[in-house]
Amino acid sequence: SAVIVAIDGPSGTGKSSTSKAVAEAMGLSYLDTGAQYRAITWWMLSNGVPADDAEAVAAAAAKPVIDSGTDPAAPTIAVDGTDASGPIRSKEVTAAVSSVSAVPEVRSRITALQRAIAAEAPGGIVVEGRDIGTTVLPDADLKIFLTASPEARASRRSGELKGKDATDLSATREALIKRDAADSGRKTSPLKKADDAVEVDTTELTLEQVVECVVTLVEQ
Ligand code: C5P
Repeated sequence: SAVIVAIDGPSGTGKSSTSKAVAEAMGLSYLDTGAQYRAITWWMLSNGVPADDAEAVAAAAAKPVIDSGTDPAAPTIAVDGTDASGPIRSKEVTAAVSSVSAVPEVRSRITALQRAIAAEAPGGIVVEGRDIGTTVLPDADLKIFLTASPEARASRRSGELKGKDATDLSATREALIKRDAADSGRKTSPLKKADDAVEVDTTELTLEQVVECVVTLVEQ
């Protein structure tokens, strides 16, 4: 039967790399739920909806059509039929995504989308995010909560950005801590470890080691 794996944790813990690699190794589909929240945020910014105006965001929450491609070797994200994989990684979207994703109307809409995608995935799926084990898929076969030290998370994130230097590193660290605090502090489905999730501290581990650990847990 279909295997459902939920991988949650703060930014920069290796969620995306781990989730894609586990899905590829096990022949499962893959869903990046952060990309969906980034996509709806990009739509808000592109359509003049202020990200910090919760009422305006709620009123527009049903408008954008969001499509996620779930092949772990080539995941895609489209908004109203347009590829959004580039713009959703911009600084502007990253700075605004926590406010948009805190709006209950946004969360209920995206959560429904995520459940439908997971239910339709042939053979099963690895779903990564912040509230997958607690809210989206509480009956997942395996729940993983990834953590890492703030230093490790900031340097992994800067490594993904171009032209890194010491200033970029501390700015990245600040932005990351701010976003995690907002994600952990919101009222609806905050970033949180599920009681039955296995916590894996990735600070001293290579990607290969984390993947091996998760695959072993799925196979048990
Ligand atoms: O994973 P990523 O850093 O791309 O996620 C971007 C943002 O989307 C998070 O900071 C959070 O505000 C939101 N998010 C969420 N719930 C999820 C996944 C992401 O609120 N399940």
